Amino acid sequence: MIYLDNAATTYLAEEVKKEIASNFGVFGNPSSRHSSGKEARIEIENARDKLAKFIGAKSGEIIFTSGATESNNLAIKGLALANPKKKHIIVSAIEHPSILETCSAMKKQGYKIDIIPVDSEGIVKVDEIRKNIGKNTLLVSVMHANNEIGTIQPIEEIAKICRAKKVLFHVDAVQSFAKIPINVNSIGVDLLSVSGHKINAMKGIGFLYVRKGVKIYPLVNGGGQEDNFRSGTENVLGIISLAKAIDLKRYEFEVRNSRDRIIKEILKIPGARLDGSQSNRLYNNACFSFYGIEGESLQMLLDEEGILVSTGSACSSNKLAGSHVLRAIGVNKFYLNGSIRVSLDSLKVLTKEEENFVIQKIKENVEKLSKISPFKFGVKSNG
Ligand code: PLP
Repeated sequence: MIYLDNAATTYLAEEVKKEIASNFGVFGNPSSRHSSGKEARIEIENARDKLAKFIGAKSGEIIFTSGATESNNLAIKGLALANPKKKHIIVSAIEHPSILETCSAMKKQGYKIDIIPVDSEGIVKVDEIRKNIGKNTLLVSVMHANNEIGTIQPIEEIAKICRAKKVLFHVDAVQSFAKIPINVNSIGVDLLSVSGHKINAMKGIGFLYVRKGVKIYPLVNGGGQEDNFRSGTENVLGIISLAKAIDLKRYEFEVRNSRDRIIKEILKIPGARLDGSQSNRLYNNACFSFYGIEGESLQMLLDEEGILVSTGSACSSNKLAGSHVLRAIGVNKFYLNGSIRVSLDSLKVLTKEEENFVIQKIKENVEKLSKISPFKFGVKSNG
């Protein structure tokens, strides 16, 4: 099997497995005062220190959560609860559903939501953000890198605008964390979401960074864990796994080269396009659309060959209308349902044979599907 769906999730790295296994004996409740509880508490606090340092934050600024969906919800709803006077939120059009759906829910509560368009590469229109910020603006939320097309956003520039206008800035860093270095202080990010399972740690663990002094209210009340911001007994092994995953060596240079070769070869297919930016994209992401074919059929045919890719985002539910990300970058209707996302493993580089096999099988199967499609590339259609 050649697994090329690492933007959806990743396998547990061997080093992470070992780290978890060596902590199987750590079972005490971290809130218990006895030695078994203290042992678990020490593991959590060591992990918190390490993760905080990794993004240039302080330990007390990290709140462990069940993953980025919760982190994103906590960022938006937690801020809204603590700052009830400000009722305006700004997000980009290509945010993950855990942001966009949270904003829809906030809209029903009377919030004004501005969804800022992106250009044809998926880069958010920064000037539109600037223009839309007003006295009532609670938050600007823009992801670091997009989960479908891999486009990297100019978060430094957006942070500067937010600073100047005294508006809080949240970054969903799920796809970029541990791939693109980030320092929340030098950039000026106020809140940042991270998820473990995208970087070869366990599922069901993540964190939200909240700058000291930024007021949020908890969404989960109870025993007062995580400094009262997120009650519930902590996922100790998950936390340990997340802290271990940031040590792993990621092969940026080699993976980028491999990805670039795949892009170069696939773009030779008539009717193939690369979605997103050529240069401003995550090094392990390639997202293609093919004229007149169904991405889902292509995905299934590749699966039969042992190659696992996804169609757009595995987290995207609105499949019939086509991906909201592809629509936002203006992908034409003949391409809209013909997209696949190839997201490479950042811990292991494909061999030349695997790379050739992937290229060959995509070519063969696109050709097969194009032959049976009523829409032929290069032939004018009334459809
Ligand atoms: N944000 C982005 C950009 C994502 O890609 C994902 C997962 O696909 C999430 C948030 C949600 O993360 P989790 O699965 O940890 O809830």
